[in-house]
Amino acid sequence: MNQLQRTVTRYLDDEAAMVAFGRALGAHLRGGATVFLEGNLGVGKTTFCRGVLRAFGHRGAVKSPTYTLVEPYDIDSGTVYHFDLYRLGDPEELEFMGVRDYFAPGQVCLVEWPARGRGVLPSPDLIVSVSVQVDPVKFVSGRSVAVIAQTQRGEKILQLLERPVTELPGM
Ligand code: ADP
Ligand code: MG
Repeated sequence: MNQLQRTVTRYLDDEAAMVAFGRALGAHLRGGATVFLEGNLGVGKTTFCRGVLRAFGHRGAVKSPTYTLVEPYDIDSGTVYHFDLYRLGDPEELEFMGVRDYFAPGQVCLVEWPARGRGVLPSPDLIVSVSVQVDPVKFVSGRSVAVIAQTQRGEKILQLLERPVTELPGM
């Protein structure tokens, strides 16, 4: 692991906060990015992806594409691909799907259970790592979300995500 990887960490105490954070990240993915989502079953990865898709104007439901492995969402500037590789038997299946075409430059790809596709998937720009975290004061279980840059592109996206609201144009 590179010690200099930029990381943005948030504690998010409910589903709405998770969607809002996904949306905030999604707003900076327009030029294309590959995002891996890590964390246990039921931790909130798909919820986060719903937020990202909201940033691209998708208002409908977002379900984990467990059986089809990938769900494409048409957006004005192209397509966002949402993968869930939980049920992937062999990474070779991804080769048969022509997975490299999905990860073309400029595309947005969100991948749940990326470890299942190890060796075939390209490396990500960002890793989103989600875990359950109990709020010690309110004693409710929210989520800790860490977004870790893996490439220069990922660094740039996190820089934009961290930028204070007062620096945004029009403020
Ligand atoms: P995954 O895709 O990781 O299997 P889901 O996105 O389907 O998980 O979410 C599972 C559950 O976690 C949902 O019921 C959702 O409401 C809940 N959840 C998501 N984010 C949070 C959060 N920040 N705090 C509490 N519950 C959350
Ligand atoms: Mg899921």
